[in-house]
Amino acid sequence: MQIKTAGSRPVTGPANDGPTLIVDAVSKDFGAGNAVDGVSFALEKGQFLTMLGPSGSGKSTTLNMIAGFLEPDSGSIRLRGRELTSLSPEKRNIGMVFQNYSLFPHMTAVRNVAFPLEVRGMTKKTALAKAHEALELVELSPRATSYPRQLSGGQQQRVALARAIVFQPELLLMDEPLGALDKRLRESMQIEIKRISKEIGATVVFVTHDQEEALTMSDQIAIYNNGRIEQFGTSQDLYERPASVFVADFMGESTILRGVLEHGMLRTDTLALMLPAGTAARFREGSSLGMILRPEQVSISPAHTQGQRGSCLSGTIKDVIYLGTSYRYYVDTDAGFEVESRVPRQHEHSGLGPGDRVDVAWSPEHVAVVPSE
Ligand code: ADP
Ligand code: MG
Repeated sequence: MQIKTAGSRPVTGPANDGPTLIVDAVSKDFGAGNAVDGVSFALEKGQFLTMLGPSGSGKSTTLNMIAGFLEPDSGSIRLRGRELTSLSPEKRNIGMVFQNYSLFPHMTAVRNVAFPLEVRGMTKKTALAKAHEALELVELSPRATSYPRQLSGGQQQRVALARAIVFQPELLLMDEPLGALDKRLRESMQIEIKRISKEIGATVVFVTHDQEEALTMSDQIAIYNNGRIEQFGTSQDLYERPASVFVADFMGESTILRGVLEHGMLRTDTLALMLPAGTAARFREGSSLGMILRPEQVSISPAHTQGQRGSCLSGTIKDVIYLGTSYRYYVDTDAGFEVESRVPRQHEHSGLGPGDRVDVAWSPEHVAVVPSE
């Protein structure tokens, strides 16, 4: 937003002024083909972006170019309108947290946190005062004078987080910061990181290869594949409206039924299945498509007991797994493929088990359809 004041030129307001971070057509080749291949996205101030993708897909390389540890071959990176690519890392006002905490072993927690401030020329006294504040934010004040080796992995990561936020960076980058922690600690740190980043109003780019972690933490998710962003959106967008088989596969479990679009139906080797209305308008007749069936969209019932609503197939239960809050049924359909059905536990247990004949049904209006190679 531009603020006009009488008799003066328009002044650009400092915050909430369009995107804070703009990554524009950034590429990097280490010599073995593009590690990052024309990546573009924009983030608003205070947003939490997660980069999610398999190992080697270019997430860290992107992050390191934003931080200034790597120089892009081409493209531009702007933070609040300022071009970053020619600035050294310490001039970028970006905080960074890595998986290995990279704390100085010979310094106490509070000295570690004060360090970036002292490097920036702050007096030791002021730096220590601010470091104590940052440790309070990550709830580690009681351990301020402990050395890293006296702290648990989770506590060390809190120190690293305090050190990254102590100079109030405009942008916080985190590269798999929870990768070294066990599952329970990871989950509590996920919530902590989310709370702290909202509390300080930081714009965050967070890297993980863990889909659940991405769902827990993010406002936006960028799905990486082979150096490119395959899809960018909210977790709901990506889960319910995946753009490709790759995204659907990465964002949770599903059965993918492949076929060809024929007269508004999905023609597989053995069947013609109904598709959501409008599919024929999105794809050309004859296109190869994948229909994404999520386990929670698929219901099963003993054979021939259910009125034939939606799409319905016959099959035989192959396996049942009890998952605590739900049951998961694996069904071999007579059409020759397997589908999974997840049924919440509060539903009366059907008593169905391996070998039983069942009807498998879903509502074709609610399935996602993606192009398939
Ligand atoms: P991710 O973080 O998604 O696991 P990276 O960004 O680390 O992926 O790596 C992307 C690709 O770039 C990989 O093929 C990796 O081997 C390569 N790569 C990363 N860093 C370097 C480097 N310093 N030198 C050469 N190749 C690299
Ligand atoms: Mg990485």
